[in-house]
Amino acid sequence: MKSTIRIGEPDAFKHATNEDNENGKLIESAIMAKKDAPETYTPNSFKIKDSILDAVGYTPLVRLNKVPQAEGVKCEFLVKCEFTNPGGSIKDRIGRRMVLDAEKSGRIKPGDTIIEATSGNTGIGMALAAAVRGYRMIITIPEKMSNEKIATLKALGAEIVRTPTEAAFDSPESHISVAKRLNKQIPNSHILDQYTNPSNPLAHYYETAEELLEQCDGKIDYIFSAPGTGGTISGIARKIKEKCPNCKIIGVDPLGSILALPSEINETDVTGYKVEGTGYDFIPQVLDRTVIDQWVKVGDEDSLPMARRLIREEGILCGGSSGQVVAAALHYAREMKLGEGVRCVVILADSIRNYITKFLSDDWMIRNGFMELDKLSDPNNALSGVSWEKLGLKEVKPVGKDVTVAEAKELLSKGIKHLPVVDKKIIGYITNQSLVKQIINRKMTGDQSAISAVIKEVPIVKHRISSIFLIIFFLIGTKRS
Ligand code: PMP
Repeated sequence: MKSTIRIGEPDAFKHATNEDNENGKLIESAIMAKKDAPETYTPNSFKIKDSILDAVGYTPLVRLNKVPQAEGVKCEFLVKCEFTNPGGSIKDRIGRRMVLDAEKSGRIKPGDTIIEATSGNTGIGMALAAAVRGYRMIITIPEKMSNEKIATLKALGAEIVRTPTEAAFDSPESHISVAKRLNKQIPNSHILDQYTNPSNPLAHYYETAEELLEQCDGKIDYIFSAPGTGGTISGIARKIKEKCPNCKIIGVDPLGSILALPSEINETDVTGYKVEGTGYDFIPQVLDRTVIDQWVKVGDEDSLPMARRLIREEGILCGGSSGQVVAAALHYAREMKLGEGVRCVVILADSIRNYITKFLSDDWMIRNGFMELDKLSDPNNALSGVSWEKLGLKEVKPVGKDVTVAEAKELLSKGIKHLPVVDKKIIGYITNQSLVKQIINRKMTGDQSAISAVIKEVPIVKHRISSIFLIIFFLIGTKRS
């Protein structure tokens, strides 16, 4: 597979100004205005903890011993294993701090409702704090985010509102807008708002960065982190620039996101990505791009296989964004020829637990074009080692998005179980069941468009065996239906 990774030109971006952030002024205040905030909530001790919230932080920093070496990278690679936090991610740190800081300032009191728009991990961190401290928790979350995150949130007692992934951040359907609407409707409700809340970067300024400095005895040459809200990278970078001024901070941004600088590096025809939690279509206020020295752009094709390698080769049970940041960091180290004695620290944000039915599954990886079929390793998979000829599959011809109810019905009656629908690229498929449901619910006639019957969960088809992927997907779908 061709690498998707590219590095921003060092001279072109230099330092961004705060005007690059829509409300740049907040950045200064984010870090500076909270001088009275407690420096850390985490006592460094193995003694009994008063609650699980005291177990957040003090995560291990672990050397990679195989993957960089196999990639011909000579410098030292250390990974900060944030997946060992009690809720499974780095966002436990801000969940705890945002709730406790809001309590301390008198903004919230137990019994109130907390609402948060999140890609899942902040929700889990906040739901954990809400469960311990006694708040009702409502989470608005894009549909793209894994069911594993939803299950964890529900178990923690959070109420979930799922929103369309494709909704732009400022559209009324986005998870951010829906949270704001709920806030207006529900009495005693509060949005602590990770996108603007100073407690977000502060958690990393006072805690994560201090831990790194202690763990590395103050010697760190590069830190790589992939921002979502940007709280992690901004908070860490601020502290590191004070204590370790020569250390370079490298931001990693998925193709399809617009956080990186210079902005031309964001140009791509990629419109979406599967890695969860990183990148955005707007610049969050807590993302301080003035403290990021350089950016690397990376696509799913490099990120998700790298997450699988970290698990398989290093025993590091991390999530997809960890693969993203390691893939980018290794590429950077190779391109910049970082030699022996150079120390790179990479922040691994979350754990395998969120993705058991996603990138952990060979089936999912193959359907999405991130693993080739000849690499299918699970001998229990029915398709392992079976040739196409033996499968005796017939190719299914896709229809256009103007297909009518009558045409779709006719094709489905010929034994096709899943009818692919294209609009330049595959947008979804129609089944007998989805068509009948629409005919009944919408009282549709044969000459009407069948577009509302399209089910949109389709793999992104990418490389040389792409048509084969399509066939196999429909076969797998047929077997299960
Ligand atoms: N990786 C994952 C898996 C995440 O959930 C997040 C948070 N959205 C990040 C990285 C980025 O963290 P931050 O919001 O602090 O930039």
